Amino acid sequence: MGESSTVTPVASPGLSVGLDIGGTKTLAVVLAPDGTVMAQTRLATSRGHHGVLDGAVRAVEGVARAAGVPVEEITGVGVGIPGLVDADEGTVRHAVNLGLDGEPLELATLLSARLGGVGVGVENDLNVAAVGAAHLVETAEPTTGSTDLAFLALGTGLAAGIVLDGRLRRGSHGAAGEIGHVPVDPSGPPCACGQRGCLELYASGSAVIAAWPTTTGRPAPVELFEAADAGDPAAVAVRDRYARSVAAAVRMLVLSVDVRYVVLGGGVSQLGEPLLRVVQEALEDESAASAFLRSLDLPGRVRLAPGRVPVGAVGAAVVGRGYAARVPDLR
Ligand SMILES: [Zn+2]
Repeated sequence: MGESSTVTPVASPGLSVGLDIGGTKTLAVVLAPDGTVMAQTRLATSRGHHGVLDGAVRAVEGVARAAGVPVEEITGVGVGIPGLVDADEGTVRHAVNLGLDGEPLELATLLSARLGGVGVGVENDLNVAAVGAAHLVETAEPTTGSTDLAFLALGTGLAAGIVLDGRLRRGSHGAAGEIGHVPVDPSGPPCACGQRGCLELYASGSAVIAAWPTTTGRPAPVELFEAADAGDPAAVAVRDRYARSVAAAVRMLVLSVDVRYVVLGGGVSQLGEPLLRVVQEALEDESAASAFLRSLDLPGRVRLAPGRVPVGAVGAAVVGRGYAARVPDLR
């Protein structure tokens, strides 16, 4: 399958399960053949090679039970997981949050064996989020044809998953969408990647926490936006600088690959409409001075990730369909 996989699944995909394994929780869905979510569950993530594998088995069994279907009727399983994923091998390594460093975990092979031979695909967590967002767009607007979309995660770091012409774009080195490490200020502070002034230092969730440390234990973005709404000039300045930084990320994605949609996800996106509004305003301000930017309608391309649907798990289930097609008859 090489560097990309198809978002649009095979004609008769059957039931598939998607898992989005995060640092603290694992979200699971069962996706029906028509693309709707039949059931969704969450459970705490376990760490280490055995913990991650056992947790994945429990998550598949649990969500199948919630959907009222026997595990034997699941035809494909997709897993989204943070860390360095080799999608062709179905392995993951350097998932530090999950206690997976050292030897790669052969997750696809091991999980398939534990589930009676069902096809299993493994992808990076950001990639499944992009596939999930594309699936939801295609479901909502089925006549628009193949999807061009970037899922911009505003979390601990800053990076985008990219779907082009309906296909996941991983890149020749798996680095497609790693815009968080594009330097935007060469004289800026040092970044963990070894460069200076990377966009991640200004537009990630961590950047909000650094610029507006929380005082009540609530999320820093919530406190920042509340203070700005209350008229605190320092908060307004920090919020607007943040909005301009996210706008820069959107502009970078559109000018690189001209995606139709840029979907804002990750922890900061839980702010919802207020975040969308300030980012769109920042894009409009930039467009005011540039007929070129105006012609590209940047504000009109930005969307929020849906709050109630587990986008990553849905995308993982779509990925799982593709693996079901490759091994149709193992049972
Ligand atoms: Zn960097």
